[in-house]
Amino acid sequence: MSGDNLQSKLPNVGTTIFTVMSKMAQDHGALNLSQGYPDFDCPERLKELVNQYLHDRKNQYPPMTGIPLLRQEIAKKVSAYYGFTADPETEVTVTSGATEALFDAIHATVTSGDEVIVFDPAYDSYVPAIALAGAKAIHIPLLLPDYAVDWSRVEDSISDKTRLIIINTPHNPCGSILQQEDLDSLATLIHDRPIYVLSDEVYEHMVYDGNMHHSVLCHEELAKKSFAVFSFGKTYHATGWKLAYCVAAEKLSAEFRKVHQFVTFTTSSFVQYAIADFLQECPEHAQELAQFYQAKRDLFCSLLADSKFRFTPSSGTYFQLVDYGEISNRSDVDFANYLTQKKGVAAIPLAPFYESPPATTIIRFCFCKDDSTLERAAEILCNI
Ligand code: PMP
Ligand code: GLN
Repeated sequence: MSGDNLQSKLPNVGTTIFTVMSKMAQDHGALNLSQGYPDFDCPERLKELVNQYLHDRKNQYPPMTGIPLLRQEIAKKVSAYYGFTADPETEVTVTSGATEALFDAIHATVTSGDEVIVFDPAYDSYVPAIALAGAKAIHIPLLLPDYAVDWSRVEDSISDKTRLIIINTPHNPCGSILQQEDLDSLATLIHDRPIYVLSDEVYEHMVYDGNMHHSVLCHEELAKKSFAVFSFGKTYHATGWKLAYCVAAEKLSAEFRKVHQFVTFTTSSFVQYAIADFLQECPEHAQELAQFYQAKRDLFCSLLADSKFRFTPSSGTYFQLVDYGEISNRSDVDFANYLTQKKGVAAIPLAPFYESPPATTIIRFCFCKDDSTLERAAEILCNI
């Protein structure tokens, strides 16, 4: 059977830039500072626990919403970090990665003809999920040089059809963070309007220079109207396990779960048991993460100090944007390809994260790598 009559629901979507650049890095033997994943391993104790539960017959379907112990530990965590009291029975749902949680939240809230506000550059999974729900993404560019949100423009973009606003802090790919005032502006805008918030906070523990992460869960008003999404993949250096969760008020969670149960139903059993134990045993892991990654950011930035790349150190995430304008005026896609294929260091261009890419010369490097990898990459980058 040919697929000639198959009408694409995502006609403008190709393979994600992360997959494209990682494959290019592999094909050319380049150091991979493109796709965001650590080249070091997750904690040994966590692996022991996974192994233990795998051999302890924890291999059948766990409950649809996640195992109770894990949901309880998540509720304790959001209470400790954000002062938010979540009912683990009704307000915490474990998902197969944040990608699934984002998809579920979008499909739980929007339908054909609705509008969703996204900020460009936007993490790549938002817009396709909106399109698959039959809704329309309204793109608002973040303001250079700090990638700040223009809240008056957001206000002007709100219509009767707006149902959801997606925020991401700390921000991938920009490394910027939202402040309390941003959350206040957002709350004011959606007050008295039937608009919900999807808050992608997967880099919650990677905020630097003594700043704090402002979660929607800390904001009394926003917490009632938001889906807050977090990922264990980032926090535990285990992106391949695809274990994440969504915290949302009971009514929102109920709709979220209706979608979740037919997207994946549930998620890997033995990993849930292991992470529940690890949360209890090693709370310091998350507390130490900012320091751990700030040291990597500082190392990478200091190694690049004498290069021709220009940058402001990231405020959060494990990504660092750099401007290559003193080296080349090629497009970011061309420059990232050149860097990967000819120089042996892979990066991510920003154009794929925009509806209308600006004419900037900025690419993204990922610094969640062994120091030796960062040193080798920086040596090459300093010679360009
Ligand atoms: N949101 C952002 C901003 C991300 O960077 C990622 C990581 N890839 C995700 C969501 C998806 O996370 P997960 O791997 O848990 O699906
Ligand atoms: N979020 C990761 C990044 O930004 C990649 C995730 C993926 O490959 N889908 O690099």
